[in-house]
Amino acid sequence: MVYDLIVIGSGAAGMMAAITAARRQKRVLLLEKLPVLGAKLKATGGGRCNVTNTLPKDRFMECFGRQGRFMSESLQALDHHALVEFFRTLGVECHAPDGYRVFPVSHNALSILNALEAELHRLNVDIRCSERVESWLYRKGVLYGVMTTQQHQYEGTHVIVATGGLGYPRLGAEGDGYVLAQSIGHTVTALHPAMIPLYTKEPWVKRCRADTIAKAELRISLPKAKKLRAVGDLIFTTQGIRGPVVLDFAREITPLLERYGEVPLHINVVQGMNEAQILEKIHKALAEDPHQRTRELLSVLIPDALSRELCAMASLDPERHWNKQPGGARHALLNLLVKMPLTVVGHGGFNMAMITRGGVTLKEVDPRTMRSRLIDNLYFCGEVLDLDGPCGGYNLQWSFSSGYLAGMLGEFTCKKVKTP
Ligand SMILES: Cc1cc2nc3c(=O)[nH]c(=O)nc-3n(C[C@H](O)[C@H](O)[C@H](O)COP(=O)(O)OP(=O)(O)OC[C@H]3O[C@@H](n4cnc5c(N)ncnc54)[C@H](O)[C@@H]3O)c2cc1C
Repeated sequence: MVYDLIVIGSGAAGMMAAITAARRQKRVLLLEKLPVLGAKLKATGGGRCNVTNTLPKDRFMECFGRQGRFMSESLQALDHHALVEFFRTLGVECHAPDGYRVFPVSHNALSILNALEAELHRLNVDIRCSERVESWLYRKGVLYGVMTTQQHQYEGTHVIVATGGLGYPRLGAEGDGYVLAQSIGHTVTALHPAMIPLYTKEPWVKRCRADTIAKAELRISLPKAKKLRAVGDLIFTTQGIRGPVVLDFAREITPLLERYGEVPLHINVVQGMNEAQILEKIHKALAEDPHQRTRELLSVLIPDALSRELCAMASLDPERHWNKQPGGARHALLNLLVKMPLTVVGHGGFNMAMITRGGVTLKEVDPRTMRSRLIDNLYFCGEVLDLDGPCGGYNLQWSFSSGYLAGMLGEFTCKKVKTP
């Protein structure tokens, strides 16, 4: 049998592509190398699946950096409103409890996955799990199907690569799509793990394990990266730091780490306050209760364990009264609160990377269709492409949108916003 479409990979992008094509009466084959569909999707958002967010299109694209505009047509084809509506028609209501991040109301990724699976079955998509695509069926410049490691050959008039990146390989994405793309002439940019916990040189962090700093402000203390800055919640671990701000900032840090071996950071741990503002807070607290010791004053600013560490670094006794501390030590402590130094020396690697930075180069893919500019009947969508966004539903929306556009097999015209 010759399928109209073969989709390689059953993540968010691949399942959406398969559904879109099948709804348009195409005979679709979905190949998945794991025994189950959507293994990564099930793990997203800590099992809650942060499916998208409510940012308007331009701001959404900006968050992907310089290349973000590539997704303009994909988002026009399927934006966050259309995605939420898509799931509503499949029986899954979504909401944004904080007005920004969108989750299924059930707060269970399984409801999203089950709905997609049910729709694939309803549309009679031919689903083959435990089938790992290994190479192309390609003759005289024509791509006509795929070959799996089980030596099964499948023929199709169109093929979509939706194989994901390299992060969390136990959930299926092991970089196969890059190898397949390269083997047919596509270019793959440098690949880096992103959204990963970072390991630091300073051993004291382990004594602050699990302490959370709200609205920490991270800066890279390297001449060429001074402008890079991120704000958000940070959590100390036994080996370093994690938390939303760290996951997001890691994409800036990993390339620098490869180049320099270590990356010095300065962290403001007091919600962006400067030294004068901290001092004002301390004086106000002392005016209210003049007997407070330094430790008590600091406890309203930072967690106890961190306060002990910073006091030790500033050579200041936390049990003494603030006014009895040597002036130099007080100044050192204020400086540490505003610019606490940490040195990143490693990271969790692809095993712990929630996203891959880099991928099939966007120059070789038409953003209006997701079609390869090199092979007429080949399409790419989702994380396998060289686009990655921050935490907060960005990457799933991109996967669903690009999967939707790819599944249109070149038949979508970007005149107005459509719902699926
Ligand atoms: C733990 C975790 C939590 C996350 N949480 C969120 C979140 O809440 N919100 C958000 O927006 N993003 C989140 N992300 C990122 C998001 O999950 C990914 O960006 C997105 O799932 C990528 O979708 P995809 O379809 O492109 O690839 P994937 O979901 O990786 O799917 C690719 C599929 O292709 C299959 N495959 C690979 N090679 C082959 C082959 N040769 N043959 C056949 N099949 C193959 C794989 O087994 C896999 O099933 C999270 C990521 C992780 C790891």
